[in-house]
Amino acid sequence: MTELNNHDPILTEGQILKSLKPFPLELLKIYPRSFCLADGIHYGMIRARDGRKLAVMGERQKLLKDPFQGDLFSGPPDLKLCNLSDKNTRCLMELFPFTRPVPLREAPMTFGAGDRLGTATPGHIRAIQKYHVRPVLAQQSVRENKQTGRSFVDVIHDVVWAVFQENYREGYGADGDHLKSIEELKDALRAGVSMVTLDLTENLDLQSFQGSKEWVDQRFGEVIDKDDAKVIFHLFLHKKFNFRGSQGQFSIRFDEEIVKRNTLLFHRALDFTEQVSQFISSWTGNRPLIDFEISIDETTFPTSPESHLFFVIQLQHRGVHLDSLAPRFVGEFQKGIDYIGDLKDFRRQFDRHAAIARDYGNYKISIHSGSDKFSVFPIMGELANGALHVKTAGTSWLEAMRLMALVAPSLYREMHQYALSVFRDASKLYHVTTDLARIPDLQKLRDEDLASLLDQTDARQLLHITYGYLLNAMGADGKNLFRNRFNQVLEQYEEDYWDLLVGHFEKHLNSLGVPKK
Ligand code: ZN
Repeated sequence: MTELNNHDPILTEGQILKSLKPFPLELLKIYPRSFCLADGIHYGMIRARDGRKLAVMGERQKLLKDPFQGDLFSGPPDLKLCNLSDKNTRCLMELFPFTRPVPLREAPMTFGAGDRLGTATPGHIRAIQKYHVRPVLAQQSVRENKQTGRSFVDVIHDVVWAVFQENYREGYGADGDHLKSIEELKDALRAGVSMVTLDLTENLDLQSFQGSKEWVDQRFGEVIDKDDAKVIFHLFLHKKFNFRGSQGQFSIRFDEEIVKRNTLLFHRALDFTEQVSQFISSWTGNRPLIDFEISIDETTFPTSPESHLFFVIQLQHRGVHLDSLAPRFVGEFQKGIDYIGDLKDFRRQFDRHAAIARDYGNYKISIHSGSDKFSVFPIMGELANGALHVKTAGTSWLEAMRLMALVAPSLYREMHQYALSVFRDASKLYHVTTDLARIPDLQKLRDEDLASLLDQTDARQLLHITYGYLLNAMGADGKNLFRNRFNQVLEQYEEDYWDLLVGHFEKHLNSLGVPKK
């Protein structure tokens, strides 16, 4: 019997199977951790031939009153089998509040485990619950949803059922990631996110650090209001801001040119952030708070500690509360592979960002494209002052591809071949330095060696950035080429997939130095 961390009396696996036996179900599997008792009714997850269901067992009178919609079977005890529909999902969140996303601003360390497929979350939970870290289990960007054809509601609902299935009661976050407009923000809030990540890339004036001093002077005079300029100079000009980082003391000063360049860089972004922050406040009202992250990580140049400081002082001045900030770091954070760059440089810069975050609101430093950055994880864990958020997503997709290589080699070969054929197109969306020539030739690899491709940097990037193409690939017959077969394999081998994820995420959390429970 599975150990549970709740106090409800529950059934053993044998008892569950016995009570389901009389019914005409094509039962493939039960999820024993999910079974619990509420108001005299047993609830739990099972998998039947046509997918996962919620099984509700009890006296008929009680089942008739219970709010879930499903097919009733006569017992005793009677059984109601319910689909994981939107309506039933809302019922579940009502009846079992632990399945709802919550804000995590009080948690010092959080880990984002985005799941593009809607099947990875049990693996994420099984790894993360062993550590002193809180998870953001629902985390997808607008860009990802476009590629996978999902909505914020779909993403959250998949996680809600996984949380119930694993009986995970410690609370998790749901992040509407990389939102760029009020419309996208509304979409995410309506779906019930507990965290918002505002992407300011399109509101930053990236020219401001490239133009000549003359250009800056002229532009500043043109676009910055005179009274605003006065306030900004008063806040920054010739002031010395002192910090004590883990790597020693440092101070930041702003001369006139740097004040002007930063003002130009951020002025539209600041207005937009203030507008979004006010919108969120008016939205929350009596609702739970929303964690607020700002990302400036997809800019063309690294965020200097000066720019970081300039930005957050201005935010404070405007009364905007921040829970996490994602700067762009020195070096490269490419998708799904280790850090590329100078470790000493990274250490020095990261320490400064962390010191600023600690002194100006104690918000977290957020690491985007955070998967597989094993050479810098120990530095982050050491220097973050216990205020860190790490986001991963594509790496769980890559583990799904590893599963394909292990258990469905011919499907893996087809997908790999297809990825090669669309790579050029896919690489327009991402900054990667993939060299296809370095990927071992598929024809020359034996089936048992295919999984080693998932340990090779270029192959990882190839499969990482082509996920949307692979999921949406259509054959001449108008049917999808891979998606159904891929999902079937994932379903059939879900426990193996979750085992792969547990190993992979433990590696991440150990490397970050997160203490085990
Ligand atoms: Zn990002």
